[in-house]
Amino acid sequence: MNQSSNTAHVYTVDEARAAVIAAIPPPIDTEQIPLSEALGRITAKAFPAAISIPPFRNSAMDGYAIRWRDYQLSSTFKVAGSSLAGHPFEGEVPLQHTIKITTGAMVPPDTDTIVIVENTTQTDDTMVINKPPEQHQYIRNVGDDVTQGSIVIAANTRLKPAHLGLLAAQGANTIEVFRQAKIGVFSTGDELCEPGQTLSDGAIYDSNRISICTMLRRAGFQADDLGIARDSKADIQQLLLNHQKNYDFLLSSGGVSVGEADYVKATLEANGTLQFWKVAMKPGKPMVTGKLKSGAYYFGLPGNPVSSMVTCAQFVIPAVGAFEGAEYNAPPIIRANCQTTLQKEAGRFEFQRGRYSIDSKGSAQVTTTGLQDSHVLHSMGEANCFICLEAQSTGAKTGEMVNVMLFDTIPGLQK
Ligand code: AMP
Ligand code: MG
Repeated sequence: MNQSSNTAHVYTVDEARAAVIAAIPPPIDTEQIPLSEALGRITAKAFPAAISIPPFRNSAMDGYAIRWRDYQLSSTFKVAGSSLAGHPFEGEVPLQHTIKITTGAMVPPDTDTIVIVENTTQTDDTMVINKPPEQHQYIRNVGDDVTQGSIVIAANTRLKPAHLGLLAAQGANTIEVFRQAKIGVFSTGDELCEPGQTLSDGAIYDSNRISICTMLRRAGFQADDLGIARDSKADIQQLLLNHQKNYDFLLSSGGVSVGEADYVKATLEANGTLQFWKVAMKPGKPMVTGKLKSGAYYFGLPGNPVSSMVTCAQFVIPAVGAFEGAEYNAPPIIRANCQTTLQKEAGRFEFQRGRYSIDSKGSAQVTTTGLQDSHVLHSMGEANCFICLEAQSTGAKTGEMVNVMLFDTIPGLQK
């Protein structure tokens, strides 16, 4: 897999992602954490149900619990008591008697049908059914939702609110998850200036660090901001030496092309091993990945703001996901009618920034958000999807169907 720069294979996006993920062994370290902190974490083990849900037969409606057999004789019942949620009726239900019941309350064992309150009339302690019920109606049976011993949540699941609810319903207040990756993010460049400071001639504000850090956090990861390294091997190396032991991933942006001040690749080679550095994609080429001597994974993302975001979404987030035990699920491709001409040269796979919508007839359509150069961040800001153009594509005409990947389906770019 290791490629030296002069024989470097140019990877497709899918090959590169698969290679990045394959280089990361499945996680081992786990921790038991409170459910309240577990949103977005990855389960380390399958969770078998300790109890069935519902754990007892209960009513799905407010009404009366009756015996079907009694109803065959008469639709008039004497009310013998009540079963409220949390306060079951205790005792036997005499013949031709009913128990008033609320939603979620235990159904008395010797009753088998719930008549909803709307279909009854009660005067004093007599209840009359006005509309024929069906036998067994409105009863939630033991295990309707979850049966004891079945797998409630599989291993390697990223926990969503519904999963946390399922675990809480099992009585769990903690869950075993894989440990989170420690990620450090820095920028490289002599031209970079911290937002909030005065901009000098030839300088620009560093925008990559905040977008990369927040993409990672949006994807459910923790990311630390490690500042800016200047364009020198010594400065980049110093940053790596200072931080490599404390992080599982170090990410930089900038300094990975073949310009005079591009030191990232050489510094990585001197401090670890290079995995590959060319991906046939736009924006995003070139990119560096590898491993530092400390064992930390290294990604040298391109400097242009859109390129760094696209490579973060395509490679870094799936890689960190693999580190934390998540399976990679490719975002679904949907088809949309292109409302504008798209320019493209054959050769590289392109992620063009677009705006997807549904027209008045219910059909999917997409338009470009404007200039597609990799430094044009505002067209990324306006976009809600990528228009995905295959390597051999030479663009698209108005009215052509194109492939679209919604940001809402891409971890890190979702709303
Ligand atoms: P480089 O690969 O370092 O030559 O950077 C490519 C382009 O991205 C240049 O125009 C840089 O000024 C710009 N760039 C690099 N890093 C950043 C950053 N952190 N924020 C904004 N722009 C950047
Ligand atoms: Mg630079």
